[in-house]
Amino acid sequence: MLSTLLSPPDVGELEQQAVLRAMQSGWVAPAGPDLNAFEAEVAERVDVGHAVALASGTAALHLALVSWGVGPGDVVPVSTLTFAATVNAIRYVGAEPHFVDARSDDGNIDVDLLARAVEELQAAGRRVPAIVPVDLLGRCVELDAVTKIAESAGARLLCDSAESFGATHRGRPAGAWGDASVLSFNGNKIMTTSGGGMLLTDDGAMAAHVRKLSTQAREAVPHYEHTEIGYNYRLSNILAAMGRAQLSRLDVMIGRRREWRRRYRELVADRPGVRVLGSDDPADDAHDNCWLTALVVDPEHAGTTARDVGQALLTAGIESRPVWKPMHLQPVYADHSSTLDGTAERLFDRGLTLPSGSGMGEAQFDEVLDVLGKALA
Ligand SMILES: *Cc1c(COP(=O)(O)O)cnc(C)c1O
Repeated sequence: MLSTLLSPPDVGELEQQAVLRAMQSGWVAPAGPDLNAFEAEVAERVDVGHAVALASGTAALHLALVSWGVGPGDVVPVSTLTFAATVNAIRYVGAEPHFVDARSDDGNIDVDLLARAVEELQAAGRRVPAIVPVDLLGRCVELDAVTKIAESAGARLLCDSAESFGATHRGRPAGAWGDASVLSFNGNKIMTTSGGGMLLTDDGAMAAHVRKLSTQAREAVPHYEHTEIGYNYRLSNILAAMGRAQLSRLDVMIGRRREWRRRYRELVADRPGVRVLGSDDPADDAHDNCWLTALVVDPEHAGTTARDVGQALLTAGIESRPVWKPMHLQPVYADHSSTLDGTAERLFDRGLTLPSGSGMGEAQFDEVLDVLGKALA
């Protein structure tokens, strides 16, 4: 039995009351005042023109690509170190992913490899209409560099910020970058609507198109009229009410996760061969939302492995998990092209994500540190 989970939802009285009020309002549908307000509040927080609330982050990725007309014959460079949802969305529209390897410090996309990949694909005559980098575990990719690569390639930039809501890069929030960004409010994310997601963009026409696509692409006439294929991807008003309550607590929740990060860093500071995945400079944690803290355990210098540490935690009822298994190693995606240097595979072997939830108690966290300290001794 697991007594401490990786990142369980942190919801309580405030969320319960918000959901109850939404139900009592009568707006028990994927439309209503909480849905509109939730979009406005997230857009304001991220400082972006438009937000469209959807049933999942995956739906947001999918509709962004649909609205841009990405499809068969197109190649979309994407981080290989990510959750399958990023790549699934590329396949939903019939385009081909091209996997790009990671930086060794924080696991985010290696911008030099990305630039090379785009150049080589275009030189080979491939169409590259979009690039999809992923903010890993709550830390933004080098978005300024990626923006330049996308601009010079004439490709649109879709930022998968599903894990990084609340983080910033060079003072600008995750979600405000690129031609569009995607957030996720799944149950394990930094804040949740139980399931949900959002598309953020400054492009008003795109936001309007995605909103229309998400509600079965109904034309603005009294009868049901359709000129394109639609989807049923809109977020429920009930869940948006939960999202508003969570949003009001987001900074407090991020603060908790940053505190766990600080203490994990402290624990491993003097252990050879063990480090926290992320920036080498702890001051950068102030820009990271610290969604999940992961360790990187180098077996040659640490005297143990990430898998053994994970096993020791499990024996004590504490959940941990390897970092994402790279997409180019996934059986379902083994056939696609890639630009790799082995970093993501190494991080998969050596990385271990640790309990990071904002609802975790002090005593619970002390126990995690205790077991972890012994496993690393
Ligand atoms: C969670 C996640 C998604 C998908 O979000 P859902 O809301 O679960 O569909 C996409 N990309 C990344 C990187 C994620 O971590």
